[in-house]
Amino acid sequence: MPGVLSGRVALVTGASRGLGAAVAIVLGRLGAHVVITARTQGGLEDTDDAIRAAGGTATLLPLDLREPEKLDSVAPSIFARFGRLDILVHAAGVLGKLTPVSHALAPDRTEVLAVNTIAAWRLIQGCEAPLRQSDAGRAVFVTDIRASVPLAYWGPYGASKAATENLVLTWAGEVATTQLRVNLFDPGPMRTRLRAAAFPGEDPASVPTPDSAAAALVALCLPAETRHGEIMRHR
Ligand code: NAP
Repeated sequence: MPGVLSGRVALVTGASRGLGAAVAIVLGRLGAHVVITARTQGGLEDTDDAIRAAGGTATLLPLDLREPEKLDSVAPSIFARFGRLDILVHAAGVLGKLTPVSHALAPDRTEVLAVNTIAAWRLIQGCEAPLRQSDAGRAVFVTDIRASVPLAYWGPYGASKAATENLVLTWAGEVATTQLRVNLFDPGPMRTRLRAAAFPGEDPASVPTPDSAAAALVALCLPAETRHGEIMRHR
């Protein structure tokens, strides 16, 4: 399907490594111009190199998702520069500390909610107008089974993902009559830094790389995709 996304512009958060980087590379390979964002410039440059090697193009946008004013300017800036925004993938995420709910410290709790939930909310607010102008606007938010299956010590992360799922599914209901398709994607276990922090004793080789999940997620971004308001689980 090379070229299936030619002429389209995509925004991918968490694109410095892990799932977000893998998604950005697939989108670039399919012809989208990909605006890649995260805090780590070196990671964004690595992703840019991989996109170019795949025949695609990217714009690097270093950004801390905890900075609301900068985050709110992202969608308007993309629209001002490219005249369109067709695809949004919010893959950025933080685990926070695995700790009892009663012990979770405010700064850690705040970061998890800021990156996983509030950033998703602000992206919805900023991106809805340009995505609705596209003839095939697509938005995908990355979630986790911990949103619906709570597990001891995973409270901040699980709660942040549960809140995000609720927001995204609510938004999906609000735009159901438009051409915009909005979905959640649970990638399952992947060999990334987040997974290593959650399971430090695990052999990384026993966990798949993000490539297969990335391909499945990008399927939700294609113009022909009709699924809407669903949680896709990749296993
Ligand atoms: P990862 O390798 O740790 O990548 C996380 C990404 O989020 C990085 O690009 C990181 O970039 C970005 N990020 C974190 N804090 C940020 C901030 N304040 N501002 C901007 N960007 C920030 O993790 P991953 O496993 O690929 O996670 C991707 C998504 O999959 C997450 O939503 C996660 O919850 C979900 N997930 C993962 C697994 C798994 O097994 N790995 C399972 C289920 C769901 P910088 O550090 O450069 O800013």
